[in-house]
Amino acid sequence: MANCPLCGKEIDHLDLEEERTIVGSVAVEDGRLAYDEEGTPVIDTKYMCPECALVVAESEDEVKVILGVE
Ligand SMILES: [Zn+2]
Repeated sequence: MANCPLCGKEIDHLDLEEERTIVGSVAVEDGRLAYDEEGTPVIDTKYMCPECALVVAESEDEVKVILGVE
């Protein structure tokens, strides 16, 4: 069983929240708006302790350390 590094309680999972930001542009083509998405979406993932709800990790590597995966 793993422990939260912040509150110390026993946890068997982490809650996660993922935010995607897509960057693009919009112009006028043939009198209509034309959207052009460029680049790759920026994905921001946060992992929270289910007990104290604080963010304990921001990458899968940190999650592995907390949950004890080799
Ligand atoms: Zn906690």
